[in-house]
Amino acid sequence: MGFARFGKISYVSETKLQDFEKSLEAGKIMGTKCKKCGRLYFPPRVDCGCMKGEIEWVELGGDCRLKTFTTLHFAPASFRYEAPYTLGVAQFEEGPTVLAPLSKEIREDEIKIGMSLRLVPVELMGGRMIYELRLPESR
Ligand SMILES: [Zn+2]
Repeated sequence: MGFARFGKISYVSETKLQDFEKSLEAGKIMGTKCKKCGRLYFPPRVDCGCMKGEIEWVELGGDCRLKTFTTLHFAPASFRYEAPYTLGVAQFEEGPTVLAPLSKEIREDEIKIGMSLRLVPVELMGGRMIYELRLPESR
């Protein structure tokens, strides 16, 4: 998983991306689950590695733990977070991992591997929806 590519790749195929953005607007963190093998994906995927996939949407609780993070001092052109910002990889209670920026409300010296976080949808300038990692008590 390359941090450098964050913001440059599209998360999901075009058609599903719309549904995904709509659910973010509604404040929901939606993943997909393969009906055959039960594998859970976030961000959502339209197919599964087992290739038999029939996919269903599932809502994730948003609770996760920080696995690793890095602070970037520049932002990719297509990415509207102001530098410097911190990107984290967190693991959901449900299993999948997510790459997302950490909220600026979290001070750099508070960031610790293993800390509890919550993934929440946020709206960027221009109405584009994304999500960020926040402290669990702030919803
Ligand atoms: Zn599968």
